[in-house]
Amino acid sequence: MAKIQTFADKAAKAALQKGSKCPVCGTIRQPILLVSSEKSSVSSTWKFSERRVQVCKCNEKEIYA
Ligand SMILES: [Zn+2]
Repeated sequence: MAKIQTFADKAAKAALQKGSKCPVCGTIRQPILLVSSEKSSVSSTWKFSERRVQVCKCNEKEIYA
């Protein structure tokens, strides 16, 4: 039962992601993980932040530049 529920959850999430279409350019948004590094001014150590972004034709040039 638990396995079936998990699978259904994943399928539902996948369907949601596939369904996120950009209203501007009409392409399916691709979720990617964008990793950026920044140096902390306080401790002068590098920290990495990850964030999920949805890429479509509107912003792919900025993301992949
Ligand atoms: Zn777009």
